[in-house]
Amino acid sequence: MPAMQTKPKVIFFTDFDGTITVKDSNDHLTDNLGYGQARRRELNHAVLEGKMTFRDSFQDMLNSVRTPYDECIRTLCSTMKLDPYFAEFYYWAKENNVPIVILSSGMEPIIHALLVAMLGHEPDNIQIVANGVKVREGKKDINEEGGWDIVFHDDSGFGHDKSIEIRPYADLPEGERPVLLYAGDGVSDLSAASQTDLLFAKKGHDLVTFCQRENIPYTLFEDWSTILSTTKDIYDGKTNPKAVAAAQKELQA
Ligand SMILES: [Mg+2]
Repeated sequence: MPAMQTKPKVIFFTDFDGTITVKDSNDHLTDNLGYGQARRRELNHAVLEGKMTFRDSFQDMLNSVRTPYDECIRTLCSTMKLDPYFAEFYYWAKENNVPIVILSSGMEPIIHALLVAMLGHEPDNIQIVANGVKVREGKKDINEEGGWDIVFHDDSGFGHDKSIEIRPYADLPEGERPVLLYAGDGVSDLSAASQTDLLFAKKGHDLVTFCQRENIPYTLFEDWSTILSTTKDIYDGKTNPKAVAAAQKELQA
């Protein structure tokens, strides 16, 4: 449990694509360097309808991207944008010993490069848990045409089961266990979120519907300014996860 090293009172777990970034970097790769949006959407629907695993759909999309890996990273670094308030959250979290743990279905080298490009320096209060990349069979280098392939984090149908990383923290005994918060926008965030004390779900996205259906405590966010102010209030003891979720439920009713 790397995030326990500094004995924090709050740990912030978060999705990356579409949560920390405004748009999804993997969608951008598929839509612009791979087979395009129409086919991607078909596969997204197949996953939502339970006809295909996320893992298989993602592998299929990435197989269509033949661009060398370093070129993919360069393209993404020049097009992806950080949520306008994430940097502010990052500096507050660093100052107040709130470790940030990114749990992503994307690839670690891309996430790392994007954070460095968008923050302007090496992120030192962030742990990234994501999929990896390897040289594709029969190729010599990830930076050649068709040269790279994804290495999934685990054997799950998500490719990366985000709950695996959180579970040991969630299982800590009372008194030792920090407040666990989570921010996300997609269905793959649901298993992870169910183990934390409060989920920040991005307004207008699939995750919100799932939370309501599964009765998972959540609150809505549009950008990280909401996340920052609520997290500060929880950190200062002005409110608690249960009260925040209850207030959201009241709004919904
Ligand atoms: Mg996402």
